Formats: sequence, structure tokens, C-alpha cells
Amino acid sequence: MRGQVIRTQSGFFTVQTSDGSIVCQLRGRLKQGSREGDIVAVGDWVEVTRLEDGTGMIENIAPRKSMFVRMAPLPQGEYQQIIVANPDQVALVFASAEPEPRLGMLDRYLVVAESQQVAPLIVINKIDLTGLERAREIFDLYAGLNYPLIYTSAKNGDGIEHLTRELTGRITLLTGPSGVGKTSLLNAIQPGLGLEVRKVSQATSKGRHTTVYRQMFPLDGGGYVVDTPGLKALALWDIEPEELDGYFPDISPLVERCQFSDCTHVHEPGCAVLEGLDEGTINRQRYESYLRIRFGEED
Ligand code: GDP
Ligand code: ZN
Repeated sequence: MRGQVIRTQSGFFTVQTSDGSIVCQLRGRLKQGSREGDIVAVGDWVEVTRLEDGTGMIENIAPRKSMFVRMAPLPQGEYQQIIVANPDQVALVFASAEPEPRLGMLDRYLVVAESQQVAPLIVINKIDLTGLERAREIFDLYAGLNYPLIYTSAKNGDGIEHLTRELTGRITLLTGPSGVGKTSLLNAIQPGLGLEVRKVSQATSKGRHTTVYRQMFPLDGGGYVVDTPGLKALALWDIEPEELDGYFPDISPLVERCQFSDCTHVHEPGCAVLEGLDEGTINRQRYESYLRIRFGEED
């Protein structure tokens, strides 16, 4: 039988099949190499056999089309934690006010999404506080970079239909700083969903790597959301400084025109990025985010 893992907890995996959900364990031979990272994660498509007691056994895991991982440092080495397998997008939720928007942090989240090759969806919430016009002054720059961008208010319902449409039928990893309204948005999309997700999220953040409790939450119209408590802890240190420019879609096309192939775009002569900055084709705030990440500074 084929199914999709929708929940994992301490070696038990709930698999959704066309015939209902089955709690499964992993066939022993799949566990080889398990000390380097997760073998199966929510979002994985698997083959299961049903046992007499009604539980199941995962026999095979289908190749993943995408995944969102973090490298967790452990005493015995790095461990690759899979937050979600086969995500279609990662929704980066920020607020237009309360908390004050920190574009440097959004840039950082975008780099993580780009480096994991998962399409970002930017959601700007609380537009009731600033008005749409002011919110657009701050954030339209990202629409200009061709990132899908939705303005919402969980409070008065603006943009909720649009957001629901973007989530329906897809697996979405939801993230963003705390207090921006993630829980409220989920509740606005589907009553009770936000609270349910928050409950699990709190349990997860307490868990150690081996006992991680993770769940995908089904949407009424199809698709799932998966929550991750902030990307800040996600491994930016996993990105080589030399490859960082490749994760800025506004900077990367210029890099091949830099005079030096190892150009850091800070002081080198013949740097196409610095030229772009002078000419205004590269936004200064984006460039400053690049520098901060490249040189390991806080936002
Ligand atoms: P989370 O930490 O990202 O899950 O944020 P919450 O959903 O818990 O929201 C944090 C605070 O912002 C709560 O007091 C919400 O009532 C408030 N809030 C959420 N969405 C909106 C919104 O669209 N407009 C306004 N004015 N407040 C909101
Ligand atoms: Zn350069």
C-alpha cells in the first residue's frame, strides 16, 4: 500500500493511505545509517505493509522531489533533521507592524529557502495596522524580485481568500518570527487550525532530535501545512560564504560579470555588483543583508 507520512513521533509514523491512517514502524534494513540523519519524515511517500495487529511496516521510501532540512550539531557529529519532505513552498510570514518589520530577517529567511530549493511565498500580515499602501511601500520590493507576495489581515479578513487559495492542494512549510500572526492566519483560514498547530509546535520545540514530534495538518480543501518554530536556528552556517551570492536572485545574475571569479563584492575593482548598486539596479538594503550574512553579523 502507498501512503504519505503525516506524523512522526519517536520511531512511530502515521501514514495516510486511501484506506485510512496506519501507525507504522520502519523496517530494520531501512535504519542503516540512521545516525547521520532522519530516514523518513512527514511528507514522505512510502510503501507500507499491514500487520495482523492493525499496525504497519514501512518497507520503502520514495525519492523526494524536495526537502527542508536543518543540520543539528550533536556531540557525535552533525545530524540531518528533515523538517518536511516534498514541500511545495515555504510561507514566510512577516507583519507590516507590531513587530516592526525587519527586512534583514526576511532576506535571511529567503536565503534559507533558496538554498533549500523550496519556493518561498511571502505573507505580510497585519495590514490593518498600516494600511495596504504603507505595507506596499515597505514590501513591494520583493514582488519586484518575482517572489509571490500576499498582503493579509487575520483581523479583518483581507487577503485570507487569496492565502487559502495559495495553500490549497500544496504542502506548505509555515514560518516567520513570533508574534506576526501565524496562528491567527491559520485560524482565519480554518477555524481551530492555528491552535492545533501551536500545540504541536510547543511540544516539538521541547523535544530532542530523536523524539521529535512532527505533524502535517490537513486543510479542508486539500493540502497540508507544517509549522517550524522559526528559521533562525536553521543552518545558515551550512551555506558556504562563496556561494551566498547565488541565493540572492537580484545579485546572482551580475556575478559572472565581476572581474574576479572569487569576488566578494565588497571592494574589488570591476565588481558588477558594486556597479549595480551605484546604478540602482540592486537595492541597497538587499545588498546590506548580503554583507551581514556573508560576514556573520546579526540583523
Ligand atoms: P504567531 O506568534 O505568529 O502565531 O502570532 P499570533 O497569531 O499569536 O498573533 C500575535 C498577536 O498579533 C496576537 O495578539 C494577535 O491577536 C495579533 N494579530 C494577529 N494577526 C493580526 C492582524 O492581522 N492584525 C492585527 N491588528 N493583529 C493581529
Ligand atoms: Zn563582485
